[in-house]
Amino acid sequence: MPKFYLNIAVDTPLYRTFDYLPTQQSNRADYQLGQRALVSFGKTQKVGVIIGISSSTTLKQKQLKPITQLLDSSTLLSALDIKLFEWAADYYHHPIGEVFSQALPKQIRTGHSPSIKLRQLYCLSNSGLALEEKQLKRSPRQSSLWHLLNDAGMPLDLDSFSSLDWDWRAPLKSMIEKGWVSMSQEDIACNTTTKEPDFKPNSAQQAAINCVSKALQDFQVFLLDGVTGSGKTEVYLQLIQRVIDSGKQVLILLPEITLTPQLAERFKQRLAAQMVTSHSALNDTQRTQAWLRFKKGFANILLGTRSAVFTPMLEPGMIILDEEHDTSFKQQEGFRYSARDIAIMRARDYNIPIVLGTATPSLESLYNAQQSRFTHLRLPERTAGASHPDIRLIDCRNQVLNNHLSKSLIKAITKTLERNEQVILFVNRRGFAPVLMCHSCGWVGQCRRCDARLVIHKQANLLRCHHCGLEHAIPNTCPSCQQAELFPLGLGTERIEETLSSLFPSIPISRIDRDSTRKKDAMQSVIDKVHQGGAQILVGTQMLAKGHHFPNVTLVGIVDIDAGLFSCDFRASERMSQLITQVAGRAGREEKLGRVLIQTHHPEHPLLNTLIEHGYARFAKDALLERQQAQLPPYNCQALLRVNAINEQAVLSFLNDCTQAIANINTQSINILGPVPAPMLKRAGRFRYQLLIESTQRKPRHQFLKQLLPELEKLKSSRQVRWSIDIDPVDLF
Ligand code: ADP
Ligand code: ZN
Ligand code: ZN
Repeated sequence: MPKFYLNIAVDTPLYRTFDYLPTQQSNRADYQLGQRALVSFGKTQKVGVIIGISSSTTLKQKQLKPITQLLDSSTLLSALDIKLFEWAADYYHHPIGEVFSQALPKQIRTGHSPSIKLRQLYCLSNSGLALEEKQLKRSPRQSSLWHLLNDAGMPLDLDSFSSLDWDWRAPLKSMIEKGWVSMSQEDIACNTTTKEPDFKPNSAQQAAINCVSKALQDFQVFLLDGVTGSGKTEVYLQLIQRVIDSGKQVLILLPEITLTPQLAERFKQRLAAQMVTSHSALNDTQRTQAWLRFKKGFANILLGTRSAVFTPMLEPGMIILDEEHDTSFKQQEGFRYSARDIAIMRARDYNIPIVLGTATPSLESLYNAQQSRFTHLRLPERTAGASHPDIRLIDCRNQVLNNHLSKSLIKAITKTLERNEQVILFVNRRGFAPVLMCHSCGWVGQCRRCDARLVIHKQANLLRCHHCGLEHAIPNTCPSCQQAELFPLGLGTERIEETLSSLFPSIPISRIDRDSTRKKDAMQSVIDKVHQGGAQILVGTQMLAKGHHFPNVTLVGIVDIDAGLFSCDFRASERMSQLITQVAGRAGREEKLGRVLIQTHHPEHPLLNTLIEHGYARFAKDALLERQQAQLPPYNCQALLRVNAINEQAVLSFLNDCTQAIANINTQSINILGPVPAPMLKRAGRFRYQLLIESTQRKPRHQFLKQLLPELEKLKSSRQVRWSIDIDPVDLF
């Protein structure tokens, strides 16, 4: 008879853990919390994490099975990690096994036991360096490799060759055999060749640095609220160096698109550190290696996106989360966590400071600062030389537009290019135009699986649904009346790009959106091109708005903003203001004055006028007041129950059962809105409904859901639908 039972979080969508017996030959000393175990689960084997060891179980002896295999000889997760993951499962009402599995890199979650692999590095040997051009003339591939290694000026790993689109292995091998290229193992000692900046922090930066530096020993949340170009990154860099000099680690979290190789390089060049990165462009092995290195202290900086927040820290020193307002920190499917909120919990558990940086703080964070839960640090001025951009509206009413561009915008673009400066044009939508319409009968291209129109993608010659991915060839004649009078309505990035190339045929134009940057390194090559300078135009979606520093951009044109002014989502104005402020912040980041021109048919709109005359801070203050009056977040807490199915009736009958289940629960201090159809009722062939749960306090919301969700799980009608719960949803779609 064993004297103990293993309580295991198994990767299943069930709201509980499972008890197992230890293996026969093992004893108590073999087991620790945080080890992984392979267990038989139904007819399959699954990987789970031991999160409890207890002397009793509620299961009957004959229901108990021993684990199949213990996968780790020592613990993989610390008590603090386990505590955090348990907290997250509880707070987000998500199945605990799935939380553990999502928090681990894929190789670990699927049961592998990888170890840290030091990379093999390649550089030119002395004889390689002494080679003359003509010696390699007859082997162009070796010659290319020679140039690559020579230009790099430092040893390269195999990943550095992977951008080459030809087989570099054989020529590399023969260069090694000839003694021209030498191999060494990666040195994990600290990078010592750092570049110091040629400026001193200004007084606001210094004040922020001092304030955080004084608090390095304790938990504290800092909101670093600095206008675009105010030098937030410099504040981070100085703080990071301080923390790592004291032997501790720093976790830096960024939104997906801002984490470019360029930025990683900037950090690498400045910091005497061992840095690893983790984001979606890396493969599973690379991510696992980053996780292992950080966890085991082989690296003292982890620069990563959302999911990096779960990486254990060996010597926790500080967390930095840049662009804290960015909604990409919220996972929008499955385990719907907020990396910002988890990062704050992490910092609290580790008892370390966390810095949330942004030029456009979320209303939640501003509210927390008002309530003195966060320490508000401000960088009100742009750094050396740069002044705030001059923002103006262009009244488009009754104006003749040239393919959506007004005369005054075109004139401003022309002048900017003549001065050999660069222009950014912001368009809120990718593709050519959002609607294809028939001139003779009014037919519009509609997705048959969604309540949405098909977007014209002219370059790909496709109609594409942005919600489900459905694609059609663009028809030549109207599917309804067979006339050949189809025309595009509205605008997208491709269309503006086309208009500009006909207006400015000799000017290089780059487009940045999800379509144009799908290929690896595409974004990087645009950025490189812009940095080379010269008159250029960049057309793009909000991808352009984030983080980039383009010193030569002096004009930003915002082409279509009006649709965003009339959204039914209560967060739309916050998003819009952040977007405008961020896009505007790309203009004039160095000595040259930046101008921002916003085209609109609503020049009187209060949101635009507040932003232009008083700036984001004032907008945010007003918006918070409105939220308070309307009792919306952050003045209340929400949870959204989403339900969908192919069969609409199935959704309705589940919701009916839901309402009955709710009737048996204490709903004091809870406000329930709905069920109502989702703003887009049909998406990808599924009918979608939702139920909004509101409360002024978190606790009643939590208790209500604790009672409701197990009831929903039991409902027979739940098997015909997909449902999910979203805690603190960032959109209500
Ligand atoms: P933010 O992240 O706040 O938008 P950055 O950190 O990118 O701003 O800084 C903008 C530019 O100003 C960078 O090129 C940076 O090197 C430079 N910079 C930062 N601090 C100073 C300073 N104190 N004096 C001069 N230039 C600075
Ligand atoms: Zn027609
Ligand atoms: Zn669709």
